[in-house]
Amino acid sequence: MLLRSYYSKRPFYGVFIAIAIIAFGVYWADKYIPDRYLPYTPLAINDAPTFITNYKIASLKASDTYCFSVLNKSDLAFERMEDRKIGSTCGFYGAAMLKKSQVSWGGDITLKCPALAGLAIWERHDLQPIANDVFEQDVVRVRHFGTYSCRAIAGTSTPSEHSYANAIDISGFRLRDGTEISVLRHWNDGTKKGEFLKKVHQSACGRFATVLGPNYNAQHKDHFHFDQGPYVTCR
Ligand SMILES: [Zn+2]
Repeated sequence: MLLRSYYSKRPFYGVFIAIAIIAFGVYWADKYIPDRYLPYTPLAINDAPTFITNYKIASLKASDTYCFSVLNKSDLAFERMEDRKIGSTCGFYGAAMLKKSQVSWGGDITLKCPALAGLAIWERHDLQPIANDVFEQDVVRVRHFGTYSCRAIAGTSTPSEHSYANAIDISGFRLRDGTEISVLRHWNDGTKKGEFLKKVHQSACGRFATVLGPNYNAQHKDHFHFDQGPYVTCR
């Protein structure tokens, strides 16, 4: 009763105490919790992923400046592409050409910044650990059908995310000892290769907004489609 009348005469004190508690909480979190667990610290490509990493990847879509600052601090070699509209429905906006990563992508590939960030995180923290788990060796090369392509989604008139360099179609992998793994040939073969493909497909969900594979439809029987578009799905 006494306390209540004290604060009702001085409401400012309550607000002051609340701000002080929040400020102390933020100070404590900054000092003692690693950045990769904090939602308000920038994403770092090489940091071990946490429960908050996929949220941080999705938040890259909000700003090209922020997204490129994340790529600039990583070990990726890339060149930023000039924005350009192509035709009525296609073009590059906030895209970069990947020159070098930790595996070979078989030449330069062009992707929008958040898709490239998702790809680099998937390559380092999902693809390689799964390859080492299943085959006890690294992937040295990722095979794919490309990223940018000015076209509609098969069977529709809706522009594909490939029209904005916001998607990649991955068709296979080569391991260090030369073993080739193909989505078309090994997805359902019941061997370690099939097990590996199922795991790497699943691991991309969340690193990308949309992940589609052979179980989705016949158009995807020979590749995984990853994109950073507006729809969230994993099939
Ligand atoms: Zn695709």
